[in-house]
Amino acid sequence: MANKPGNTTMQIKALAVKKTGGLLEEYKFDVEPPKVHECLIKVLTCGICHSDLHMIDNDWGQSKYPLVPGHEVIGEVAEIGPQVTHLKVGDRVGVGWQRSSCLQCRDCLRGNENLCDENQGLIVTGPGGFADYLMVDSRFAFPIPKGIDSKIAGPLLCGGITVYAGLRNAGMSSGQEIGILGIGGLGHMAVQFAKKLGNRVTVFTTSQDKAEFAQKMGADEAIVVGKGEIPQAPSNKLDILLSTVPAALDWVPYIDFLDSDGALAFVGVPDAPLSIPLFPLLTKRRRIMASPIGGRAMINEMLSIAEKFGIEPIVEVFAIAQANEAMQKVRDNQVRYRAVLTVS
Ligand code: NAP
Ligand code: ZN
Repeated sequence: MANKPGNTTMQIKALAVKKTGGLLEEYKFDVEPPKVHECLIKVLTCGICHSDLHMIDNDWGQSKYPLVPGHEVIGEVAEIGPQVTHLKVGDRVGVGWQRSSCLQCRDCLRGNENLCDENQGLIVTGPGGFADYLMVDSRFAFPIPKGIDSKIAGPLLCGGITVYAGLRNAGMSSGQEIGILGIGGLGHMAVQFAKKLGNRVTVFTTSQDKAEFAQKMGADEAIVVGKGEIPQAPSNKLDILLSTVPAALDWVPYIDFLDSDGALAFVGVPDAPLSIPLFPLLTKRRRIMASPIGGRAMINEMLSIAEKFGIEPIVEVFAIAQANEAMQKVRDNQVRYRAVLTVS
């Protein structure tokens, strides 16, 4: 275990990948006591997002090794910097993809800290939550509502906010036709947000068992799409189709499923550039957009909605010692529906 927090340098015990695509191994490093706005968090649980895998594999060309993954962190504040006033030691907080931003630019001042040019990804610019302690800018540590259990809270901090913000920014209100493509960690939360906020929901999945379970989660219609096959059309045209798929597909049939003025919203990151003809967009004034995580105000709104409406990630819990096994299950698309590591 790490040394006790205090006034001196402490050692953090973590799991890191030391080369592209490698396995997680023990890794220790030192941190100084929290400065100015920083806080040190004792990690309780940490979800595994597919972005951890993209980073382990250096899919986005920005990974630095040793890389400590983990950006769906729930923990208790262990120590605070001298200017932290909104958190105290012992508070239960969550941290997602974002470590910090400038808090002064136009985007930050509009509550879009996730769009800030200086925004720092937790595991892009430092160690993440597969560790006994995490140091972060306290202004990106969010108090967790009492009604949300620590084991299920983590996935809301990246997966949850990403789908909530993606749907909202695509124009989701209620009474609409919402499609969700890919029912993994993000997709299964998207089904719940869309349905519980009063929409009709259609899912597209490659997994037969997920099609059945999606209906238990509230989906009105589930369409199974074999890999490489053309999807069957949904009963109704869609106002929004949210794609959570981390792979390149033929998007053209999905664009045809959109209603006039409908939006195809990407939150999943395909592994190839989009190749899309203009006419199916132009003739029906359809849009294509993409959306990264969410700003601080929207994170707080999302947590409050999750508590009020009982939106709960469905998790498979692993001890941190089983982290490699859990990661492999994510790679193999075998998790139902989000893997979470218990750290302490
Ligand atoms: P996940 O749990 O692995 O789920 C992805 C789902 O996509 C799978 O469960 C599967 O659903 C479907 N899928 C996977 N490969 C496919 C393929 N070749 N063809 C068709 N469907 C496929 O991943 P996640 O954690 O939800 O993350 C999904 C994506 O979102 C990743 O690219 C991740 O990096 C990205 N992400 C983006 C943001 C952001 O800010 N925009 C934030 C977090 C994550 P079915 O079994 O239902 O087919
Ligand atoms: Zn993530």
